[in-house]
Amino acid sequence: MEMDSGDRAGGGDSPASDAAREASAGVEVRVDAVAVSALSDAALHRRLAEIGRATSALAALRSETLRELTRRTDTATAEQTAKDTLRIPGRAARSDVKLSVALGDLDATRSGLEEGTIPDGHAQLIARASTEGPIDEAWLAERAQREGYDQFRRTVARHQAEASSDDGASLLERQRQARAGKIFTSRHDGMVVLNAQFDPVTGARLASVIAATERRLYSNEDPKSRPSHPQRTADAIAMLMLEPEAARPVGTSLLVVADYDAVNHQLTNARLSDGTPIPIGEIGRIAADAQVLPAIFNHATGDLRMGRSRRTATELQRAALALRDQGCIGCDVSPDYCRAHHIIEWQHGGRTDYDNLVLVCNDCHHKIHHHGHTVEQVPCTSRYELRAPATPPTTGDSTAPRAPPA
Ligand SMILES: [Zn+2]
Repeated sequence: MEMDSGDRAGGGDSPASDAAREASAGVEVRVDAVAVSALSDAALHRRLAEIGRATSALAALRSETLRELTRRTDTATAEQTAKDTLRIPGRAARSDVKLSVALGDLDATRSGLEEGTIPDGHAQLIARASTEGPIDEAWLAERAQREGYDQFRRTVARHQAEASSDDGASLLERQRQARAGKIFTSRHDGMVVLNAQFDPVTGARLASVIAATERRLYSNEDPKSRPSHPQRTADAIAMLMLEPEAARPVGTSLLVVADYDAVNHQLTNARLSDGTPIPIGEIGRIAADAQVLPAIFNHATGDLRMGRSRRTATELQRAALALRDQGCIGCDVSPDYCRAHHIIEWQHGGRTDYDNLVLVCNDCHHKIHHHGHTVEQVPCTSRYELRAPATPPTTGDSTAPRAPPA
């Protein structure tokens, strides 16, 4: 079908998108092949940054092409073409086409993507948010240029809740409506695949139950023959479904945080422990389902100081650590996959106190015990960090970052 902007009702071609098309035709996506082994560290970093910008620019071209395909035919045809030509899963093709079309109306995001200042993942977050409700696109595009992915994901979620006139209730309702699940046998390898998506609140509840089960499995494993993380997740899901009585973890299944507005005597700013905002009304709903940790954190209370009375952290301590550390202090992985590590080790008289504990994932815990990494508190922010040893051990984990020269 020939290009004709009258083809598709509502699919208006603005002068802005014409200009963008011309501009993007001039974007050069080019990274020369070189012998990377000859590059200095600094040159290698510059090269990676260049590749990042080129990847964004390429994503802009891909999105522009899918948008044009959709305009000439229809969504289903464009999806099928993307699936066949790019050889990606149908689900990815659907999402690609939908977000490409959304990006057509997002001028700031699109030009950031074309220029390589906004990574593809960030642009997708903005595009998805724009399909879910009102957003301030220019503001988000500006933040997208300087925030890391996880931080920006939280920024977008917070912005969506703020931009909605009803404290995010209608957004959550739309997300609930978009729930979907599917069980199928892969024709490729005969494996049975469970595939499901949930709204953030339900998802967080499921994730925390699965993670608690994984922690129990981990503590019962032979350290010499541990399954991989994905294998353990699969084991936990199977166990929860097939042996619910045995697997059901005791204690908290969801941590919800809110601020207390002492002036108006009400709870505000309700969020999941990863910062995802939720409507304040959800607190009551979730609490009615029980298994919510009812606690107001006060570091002065004895609840967060177990001293030498127990070696492992309590659920309350874990929750407080999740709020403080937001995840592994070494690699940011979700608190669900972390353990509480004693800064002054238990066997050296360390106490099971909030201020002697940090959250680390299994990998980073291993780095502390076997690769000489240390826990440091950053003076200006009071946040904890994992620091690589100044001299890498000779048995060499080459992925450990090198300390700056003294
Ligand atoms: Zn980690």
